Amino acid sequence: ATPTALLVGTGRGAQLGILIKGPQILESTRSVDTIVLDKTGTVTTGRMSLVAAVPARGVTEDELLRLAGAAETGSEHPIAAAIVAGAQHSLGPLPPLESFASTDGLGVQAVVDGHLVLVGRPRWLAEQWSITLPSDLQSALASAEEEGQSAILVAWDGQARGVLAVSDTVKSSSTAAIAAFRRLGLRPVLLTGDNERAARAVAAEVGITDVRAELLPAEKAEAVRALQREGRVVAMVGDGVNDAVALATADLGIAMGTGTDVAIEASDLTLVRSDLMAAADAIRLSRRTLATIK
Ligand code: ADP
Ligand code: MG
Repeated sequence: ATPTALLVGTGRGAQLGILIKGPQILESTRSVDTIVLDKTGTVTTGRMSLVAAVPARGVTEDELLRLAGAAETGSEHPIAAAIVAGAQHSLGPLPPLESFASTDGLGVQAVVDGHLVLVGRPRWLAEQWSITLPSDLQSALASAEEEGQSAILVAWDGQARGVLAVSDTVKSSSTAAIAAFRRLGLRPVLLTGDNERAARAVAAEVGITDVRAELLPAEKAEAVRALQREGRVVAMVGDGVNDAVALATADLGIAMGTGTDVAIEASDLTLVRSDLMAAADAIRLSRRTLATIK
């Protein structure tokens, strides 16, 4: 390939809001036939809001929001931002964290008001911390998931204390972008750490049928490798810390400009406007650039 045409392609990319790490990257898009999309922050806006807080028996809603909200002040996850905003809206300032740790794609643990508080994926709390769920919280989780929401379990001092439901909205351009991917001959796959039902609800809204949910960050990368083993050439679009390994594994990694630094560093392309349509533009551009070279 002539470097000049590739450089022209790179310059055109910049005009379209696509930052390309090097001219050679356009060549790696040549035979891409599969586009793997992260859900939260990629297909959806990632600006989530807290829509329900269901305390366990013996816990008030204020207590639930106070401890969960404070614990989440240590996290940068979109779910954390929604829980903190929801708690502050009801309660005003939240108590300080005495200690904090987060586990990517699973949740957070913190000491607040002298309690060890856990907030995260229900199965993580059940498996890792042996937290059991009373039936009222079980049905709160199930109904949030049926609504297509992310359902989060809160526990402190070893017991389940409540369920929080967080909702997200699909970006206005996602449906059209997925149709554009199909026209380019790419098969879309949705990957997420979120629950199966929330994932299916988003997938149905944008026209994706291949959905892989409840994946840990390492399992997202494994899903990309499994597609590659089937002989597929994979582009992946993502934004989170939890997407970085999968982005680096994909044949073409594409980061959202609003994404985390690790996602951007792991990727070959960055979409300045964080609009999936720009990923379709990038693939179209590289095909056109390569056609010019031939
Ligand atoms: P996605 O793949 O949709 O971007 P993540 O892998 O970041 O999602 O998160 C997967 C799941 O882990 C979330 O749906 C949530 O249940 C849980 N989780 C991750 N981080 C947090 C957090 N800070 N607070 C509560 N739950 C979290
Ligand atoms: Mg994400």
